[in-house]
Amino acid sequence: MNDACRILHEWANGLPKFSHGYSVDKLPKNGIYIVFEKGEIAHNADRIVRVGTHTGQNNLGKRIFEHLYKPNKDRSVFRKHIGRCLLADNPFLEQWNLDSTTKVNREKYINIIDFEKQKETEEEVTQYIADNLSFVVFEVTDKSERLRLEEALLSTITACKRCFPSKSWLGLKHQNPRIRQGLWNIQGLNKGILSTNEMKSLLEEY
Ligand SMILES: [Zn+2]
Repeated sequence: MNDACRILHEWANGLPKFSHGYSVDKLPKNGIYIVFEKGEIAHNADRIVRVGTHTGQNNLGKRIFEHLYKPNKDRSVFRKHIGRCLLADNPFLEQWNLDSTTKVNREKYINIIDFEKQKETEEEVTQYIADNLSFVVFEVTDKSERLRLEEALLSTITACKRCFPSKSWLGLKHQNPRIRQGLWNIQGLNKGILSTNEMKSLLEEY
């Protein structure tokens, strides 16, 4: 399917968009979210810059909140990636890469991590997200179906020759070349693309 990525973009752009200040009860309990970013265009529409889902049942709203607004990058690799780019030339990056979620690690890093600077950076990440990102969601109840569709969407976009990041895309500052290709995702990029049947059911169901 040559046109799969274009069709996917047209379809995703037609779903109701959410951004900063959205109300969580409008979201389905289980599903996939697709993120757009200001200034990023593909196929004459907003370019998809991330696809994500959740494993725990009924957790979609919680996962999106953790990614977009909860100031804890160690619970969200997406926040960690955005912070890495905002800190690209900053020596604090090395500390940002350390995981300080657990009590043991917090104690271990007490004299290594500048927690004040970390808090500031979390705020910058949240601000960047609020200013630049919007997202759409669609419901997928079954976990294995969610995981398959997530990788199918990512692989379809990765395989597309016509989706590029803009020259000023923040992700270009990331150290990982996979992110610099245009998606805030590292895994699941090179699996099977959306099959004709999967595409058909997406377009019919939502
Ligand atoms: Zn494309």
